[in-house]
Amino acid sequence: SVRVRFAPSPTGFLHIGGLRTALYNFLFARKHGGQFILRIEDTDQERYVPGAEEDIIASLQWAGLTYDEGPNVGGPCAPYRQSERKALYRQYAEQLVASGHAYYAFDTPEELEEMRQRLQKSGNPSPKYDAITRMSMRNSLTLPAQEVERLLAEGTPYVIRLKVPRRETIRFYDLIRGWVAFESAEIDDQVLLKSDGMPTYHLANVVDDHLMGITHVIRGEEWLSSTPKHVLLYQYLGWEMPQMAHLPLILSPKGGKLSKRSADALGIPVLVRQYRELGYEPAALVNYLAFLGWNPGTEQEVFTLEELIEAFSLDRVRPSGVQFSLDKLQWYNQQFIRRLSVEELARKALPYLEKHGIKAEEAYVQRVAALMQERITFVEELATFCRFFYEDPMSYEPQGVQKYWKPHTAELVRVYAERLEQLNDFNAETAEEALRTLAEERGMKAAEIIHPTRLAISGLSFGPSLFAMMDVIGKEACVRRLRRAAE
Ligand code: GLU
Repeated sequence: SVRVRFAPSPTGFLHIGGLRTALYNFLFARKHGGQFILRIEDTDQERYVPGAEEDIIASLQWAGLTYDEGPNVGGPCAPYRQSERKALYRQYAEQLVASGHAYYAFDTPEELEEMRQRLQKSGNPSPKYDAITRMSMRNSLTLPAQEVERLLAEGTPYVIRLKVPRRETIRFYDLIRGWVAFESAEIDDQVLLKSDGMPTYHLANVVDDHLMGITHVIRGEEWLSSTPKHVLLYQYLGWEMPQMAHLPLILSPKGGKLSKRSADALGIPVLVRQYRELGYEPAALVNYLAFLGWNPGTEQEVFTLEELIEAFSLDRVRPSGVQFSLDKLQWYNQQFIRRLSVEELARKALPYLEKHGIKAEEAYVQRVAALMQERITFVEELATFCRFFYEDPMSYEPQGVQKYWKPHTAELVRVYAERLEQLNDFNAETAEEALRTLAEERGMKAAEIIHPTRLAISGLSFGPSLFAMMDVIGKEACVRRLRRAAE
């Protein structure tokens, strides 16, 4: 049965690109009734960022991507944090040495640097520790066996390197890209085990994917060039390789990869936690990310997680890069807000009202929510943009005043306030009727009273339907606001 994993390195907080990778793995697992595993790849201790693992877990949880096995939930292949599996990797590196597919290398950092410079001077544009140059290095392929024994016995620091064949074409099948080929001459003799005994990403990744029974590796395109090394490792260890699927790069709206830097320059957040803090609905972000590289082949755009599981397939994932669009993501957020019940929407608004120091009864917030649901992009707008529903305006928009508040307006507004006060049954229709009657009596267009009334009631020159808004705000407050503005 299908077993897939999301294998982030805790070298930073979770990016939207990482969340997309997790999502595709999740969808694939759920679609096929398989398992989705979280594995923390923390073997690079220099790049470890405290709090990153917690952030990854919290972000997956927020997005609703539950995993079946992982560091905090356990499972049959525990532990799921590579630093806790350290002892396990060495034997495989040594097995590769024994079978002639890897070797000890004793080069010091200084010697490696010297080699790099020497190769660069001789016109080599990308110096490698490879099958051609390694013959001059200090390693167990060039040193006499006794010398190697002695160095090891003396405790000389060493690494274990993969012996990449000299001239071979390494091919593998990618479920999204088809056949992919790399020339082995372009591949470094990859370090598998570091001098501190820690495995590198390549060794740990392959060993764990094998030991954890991973059937499909679904990851970002940036890992495509690592795959030929993995192909060799699977082959040399005598293991069956999982099926591979490399997801397309996420591109900046301006072209090029969406890096932290390019995103910052365009004001695009890249961390999942930023989207959470900005008040995006997790379902909207998930829906949007699903479409960032995949499409269902139908017109449908809005999907619940359940619907995504149903519709998802890897053969509808495109290989070429996809442009990120914040506008489209916001459109999704609007769609999800529209799909909430008024009760849910109001409940989600309550913390924002509190944040902005606004007091209101929940039943009242529901009326505001019902009126504004179609007009907002973020739930928080029920507090910020809708302040006038809860409080009399403190000021009036200057452009609106200039445009709509004429010398005779105050008198009109005062009369309108009076008529409203006399209404027995105050609602949107009766308020509108009273306004239109007044306009007719005066031989003017209704708009001449509507615009100033809107300013008086909300302080703004734009907003939802005036009379629906007045209905929510109520007779008493409307009359008070109109009189105040006419003072
Ligand atoms: N640890 C790698 C990462 O940070 C995993 C890549 C893979 O999925 O093989 O993304």
